[in-house]
Amino acid sequence: MIGKKMEQAINEQIKHELYSSYLYLAMANYFETIHLPGFAHWMSVQAEEERSHAMKFVEHLNDRGGKVVFQALDQPPSEFKGPLDVFQQVQAHEEKVTGLIHALYDTAVQENDKPAQVLLHWFINEQVEEEKNAELIAQQLQMIGDQRPALFMVDRHLAGRGK
Ligand code: MG
Repeated sequence: MIGKKMEQAINEQIKHELYSSYLYLAMANYFETIHLPGFAHWMSVQAEEERSHAMKFVEHLNDRGGKVVFQALDQPPSEFKGPLDVFQQVQAHEEKVTGLIHALYDTAVQENDKPAQVLLHWFINEQVEEEKNAELIAQQLQMIGDQRPALFMVDRHLAGRGK
């Protein structure tokens, strides 16, 4: 059975993962409003992925006799300055989440909670991917500047994202 401290810390992380999903859904809708359906698609797949992250923690608590307590989510922003602004925010957000995952891992080590440590190894690797993806797109958008044809090419590319 999972300890109270770890249970509470995981419930906190579930909130952060669900907020990530909420944030990326807000960004997906923003891209719809500025007529970039490929960006919108990429972001809505990302929102689904964040929901699946939350579910990994939910299942972990359920599997170990913990209690899942959902918390209130903050309201995500609904206005952005453009695609680059969005991806710079994604990058900053993922760096913050990486810090939270690392702190959660430290708690799992302090609590000598080995199953949670094993689960968090997956998340530590996942954050490397998340940061890499966000940084790559942000840097490409920086290179593009205000060149519309290049922006449409990126939109087409992002439209092809699978799960
Ligand atoms: Mg996540």
